[in-house]
Amino acid sequence: MKFIAAVLSASVVSALVLGTASAQAPALSPEVQKHIEAARAAGGTQYKELVEMVCGRVPDLVIPRPAAPAAGGGAQTDPPRATWYAEPVKVFDNLYFVGQTEYSAWAITTSQGIILLDAIFDYSVADEVEGGLKKLGLNPADLKYVVLSHGHRDHAAGAKYLQDKYKARVLMSAADYDMVEQQKQPWRPRRDMVITDGQRLTLGDTTLTFYLTPGHTEGTVSTVFPVRDGRNQHVAAAWGGTLFNFATNDGTPERINLIRTRIAMHRKSAERFRDIVTKVNADVALSNHTIYDGSKTKLPAMKTRKAGEPHPYVVGNAWVRRYLDVVSECAQAAEAGLSST
Ligand SMILES: [Zn+2]
Repeated sequence: MKFIAAVLSASVVSALVLGTASAQAPALSPEVQKHIEAARAAGGTQYKELVEMVCGRVPDLVIPRPAAPAAGGGAQTDPPRATWYAEPVKVFDNLYFVGQTEYSAWAITTSQGIILLDAIFDYSVADEVEGGLKKLGLNPADLKYVVLSHGHRDHAAGAKYLQDKYKARVLMSAADYDMVEQQKQPWRPRRDMVITDGQRLTLGDTTLTFYLTPGHTEGTVSTVFPVRDGRNQHVAAAWGGTLFNFATNDGTPERINLIRTRIAMHRKSAERFRDIVTKVNADVALSNHTIYDGSKTKLPAMKTRKAGEPHPYVVGNAWVRRYLDVVSECAQAAEAGLSST
């Protein structure tokens, strides 16, 4: 994702909503603002950053801007390790964070091996996932499945390394296998298991359920699975793709149509997944970016948590639903902004 752009956009939205917009900042209609306010109300204290990041993309979608010249084609260099390395953290009895500072990879341990939810970057997978599992006393050779929420580099590029080295089976949606193949991504994994809607994956004593929740990409996958904290059982819901970064509005009818289609898709997926998390009574919300689910404070809190203290990741079903309300309200803000164009 384009992190800097998102932050800048978020500040535009904050300025507009707080009524401190500079004279040259384009106005968002009251209908758009109403949905952004609703997103803020839903996000409350728990998901403030999520609101800023997701609703922060709304101006890019609804305010037409001439297309920026294409970025230079020079090869991108990988960022230095000091800027992204994070220590692994045990989060539940069967769930471990093995991601980097901004991006999450979750290792689910079962009686028959490990399932990895997202594989982060090609440049960090060895350090964070392989190295992290070892640091936690787990064996990377036990990795049986690598589930990819979607086919962007920040979540999918590390999969090939695990596929090659540990013969882990890779799972992704057909649409996103197609996407990475069409884009000829150098890091793409070989097409292996294809995730379909409602599919279950059982390894030993643990079953994950996958839902196709298109929007962020056309084949984004969200996952539900059980987690344990001592004697307490919980249900985790991992929303697979968050930002509306599929396009910016260049004012052409084709682009506006594409944005309309994708944003409606995104909203419907959020609403449907909200129904699912309600039905399964999910009480843990997980993301693949550390900023969206509060991991930036929750991971450090895990390190100092004492037995019997509340678990920082157990937020309750209402907050899991509110997480998806934020996504839906921000999508509705964009839809409202596009309906007048
Ligand atoms: Zn993405």
